[in-house]
Amino acid sequence: MATRILIPTPLRPFTGGRDTVELEGATIGDLLKALIAQHGDLRRHLYSDEGKLRNFVNIYVNDEDIRHLQRESTPVTPKDTVTIVPSVAGGSTTVERETPELTRDEIQRYSRHLIMPEVGVEGQRKLKAARVLCVGAGGLGSPATMYLAAAGVGTIGLVDFDTVDASNLHRQIIYGAPDVGRRKLEASKERLQAMNPSLNVVTHEVALTSKNALDILRDYDLVVDGTDNFQTRYLVNDACVLLGKPNVYGSIFRFDGQAAVFAVPDGPCYRCLYPEPPPPGLVPSCAEGGVLGVLPGIIGVIQATEAVKLILGAGQPLVGRLLLYDALSMKFRELKLRRDPDCPVCGDHPTIKTLIDYDAFCGVTPPQKAANAAPTVPEITVEELKARYDRGEDVYLLDVREPNEYQICRIEGSKLIPLGQVAARAGELDPSRELVVHCKMGGRSAKAVALLQERGFKNVFNLKGGILAWIDRIDPSQPKY
Ligand SMILES: [Zn+2]
Repeated sequence: MATRILIPTPLRPFTGGRDTVELEGATIGDLLKALIAQHGDLRRHLYSDEGKLRNFVNIYVNDEDIRHLQRESTPVTPKDTVTIVPSVAGGSTTVERETPELTRDEIQRYSRHLIMPEVGVEGQRKLKAARVLCVGAGGLGSPATMYLAAAGVGTIGLVDFDTVDASNLHRQIIYGAPDVGRRKLEASKERLQAMNPSLNVVTHEVALTSKNALDILRDYDLVVDGTDNFQTRYLVNDACVLLGKPNVYGSIFRFDGQAAVFAVPDGPCYRCLYPEPPPPGLVPSCAEGGVLGVLPGIIGVIQATEAVKLILGAGQPLVGRLLLYDALSMKFRELKLRRDPDCPVCGDHPTIKTLIDYDAFCGVTPPQKAANAAPTVPEITVEELKARYDRGEDVYLLDVREPNEYQICRIEGSKLIPLGQVAARAGELDPSRELVVHCKMGGRSAKAVALLQERGFKNVFNLKGGILAWIDRIDPSQPKY
């Protein structure tokens, strides 16, 4: 009899798209061995080069983390369900200052709240006094801030420095078509104040960094984490722990969402769940992997719900529990989370007492430095490629995007091998020919070039700027995405 292992979306490309794998084994270690024997590409996602289970991959037996059981020696039976949870980028009221009186208009506006015993006039006054900071005015920030504004939270702070792009509109519902090209914070503030004119919106149009985070967060009662990258997520977590502010966490990828409340007294923090970030590039971002448009609506509204409960001091907050949502199967699951006494930031003997360099911690190069750095693989520009085509030169073009991206736009004559298959299918390519590799923007293709170089390809170039540069500068007839 076999035990069921649930595979999360980011790892499904390595199990042939399967969401469940049934394998036999007496312990977690046996099952994982059997799993990578069957699906070899999973090995590097689950284990380090030294053969240790990676610590940003959490394994649960039913709703218990194996770190609190017997780790890889944890016994399993066919009745158990094993879940792989990779990282995907307070009970008491948090508002203790004096609460302001409600105006006549407010009493009318919030009447459906006021007649509920869990809210009432006192609760509505707490909401009015509350100050909530939302980091990120994107997919999660849109629904979260709109519901918080509608519910009567008095002050909403927003951190973002982006402008609205057409590709944001399928999920970032706070923006409309006329907002494309506008600054996100300007458009958000206008929309939120149109919903609730008495709302105080404070805009912080900066990138949140170790230098400014404590000063920005200090003025708020709690933080809604709507970030889309690991550096900012760890930064928000550590700043919340250091300041003692609850951190209402949410994350989304394709069809999967996660939510939890971190950094309340005695509760776990994000680092207790994921002590270290995955290496850059291993976990795709929403920009690379996509996200279902309605997904941030569900997770962002869960974050808004938790924020309102924390302000009211009502109900059981999502503390010590990680909520997992799978939109494809329409299932919510819940896993237990515990504060890790050895956690470097919220543990009994913390080693992180001030904010650190999160780019270095996550192993990423800040965008500015990356732009100045010399390319690590040989490159060619879209103009050079076009000139070679025009001269009738024999250029072999390899596209390493996914098939769905290939359907949107492509460069005539290219061969499609998605990045994840390049290593296995390198034999289909002729190393004696000159090869130009491209993807959407140049990141994945640079990895493919490096990979092919390792396999002895000498004449291989990365197309700088990818197909987006090609469409911008050579063939504007094709759609961009
Ligand atoms: Zn912690």
